[in-house]
Amino acid sequence: MNRRYFLQMIGSLIVAAQPSRPAFARTDDDPEDIYARLKSSAELHFSMCGGTLSIALDGDSGPLDQHRVEAWVRRSAAAVSTYFGRFPVEQWGLLVTRTEGSHIGPATTWGYPGSITRLSVGRDVSDEALRDDWVMVHEMIHLALPRVPLSSEWFMEGNATYVEPIARAQLGQIPPQEVWRWAVDAMPKGQPQQGDEGLDHTHTWARTYWGGAMYWLLAEIAIYKHSNGKYSLQDALRAINRASGGNTAYWSVAQTARVGDTAVKSDVLASLYDQLKDRAVSVDLDGMLRQLGISEEASVIRFDDRAPLAELRRSITSLRNPNGSSTKACMDENLGKKPIHRDKP
Ligand SMILES: [Zn+2]
Repeated sequence: MNRRYFLQMIGSLIVAAQPSRPAFARTDDDPEDIYARLKSSAELHFSMCGGTLSIALDGDSGPLDQHRVEAWVRRSAAAVSTYFGRFPVEQWGLLVTRTEGSHIGPATTWGYPGSITRLSVGRDVSDEALRDDWVMVHEMIHLALPRVPLSSEWFMEGNATYVEPIARAQLGQIPPQEVWRWAVDAMPKGQPQQGDEGLDHTHTWARTYWGGAMYWLLAEIAIYKHSNGKYSLQDALRAINRASGGNTAYWSVAQTARVGDTAVKSDVLASLYDQLKDRAVSVDLDGMLRQLGISEEASVIRFDDRAPLAELRRSITSLRNPNGSSTKACMDENLGKKPIHRDKP
């Protein structure tokens, strides 16, 4: 199943079942029940990159045993922790519901009563599909930022959509071309259509995910330009994560933007929010990609290192401060250089 349909089905608080449905329908899952289930009987506990992860598994395991689930979670957590410099919350609970078939998703993440995610997966899923999966990474990125009012759902969905392939590329799990493949193929869907009233008032799938992702790409470029390459969006997002503690916090977009902007000594996030929230603003996406040195020729993504923002493009998918203590400790842990702490067998 393609990414578009997947993205429609996953959300932090929302799940939509059919492309033709009204934008969002709330999931029937009760986070209180899932939280209680995880508290009372999670089968698997481990610490990773500063977070304690608890995992419960429902449904017949078939070939999808605990070890394969753990390897999948660790791979996803390594990418997200590398991007944010640590696992984004201190405690996270995951309920994996094993179903028929081989499909990954839908998934939902909540910040109340704790940071928890429910994810369905077919028990016949292949190792290759688990290795290439982005759904788990997307959900983990939702842990990193505070929850915001539902009218600004695009702010967090756009963030998870934008950051997910970048986090995986930084750790070498996917090539940089795959990151920009999505910007070339899917991001144009985020442009405003007729009748659009700005991101805070146009709750379509395309504007929520790809319109939101465009906001974060615009922010990435503006922070780089404003600071002459000294700061990146990643610095702003790490600061927001540290100050909020992640998705158990509930903040306004303005507060979130302010904390990120302070970290990179600009007003980029706040001013972009002011520009895009109440108005239909078309973005010169082709121009942005050209400046980054990204083009598509014969279905292949090509890079031009002479483009004005080529250095930014390279830095986005490169490890940030690879020798920094938090990144290094987390990578060492995942490369097996350090014994894995287990609270339970
Ligand atoms: Zn989401």
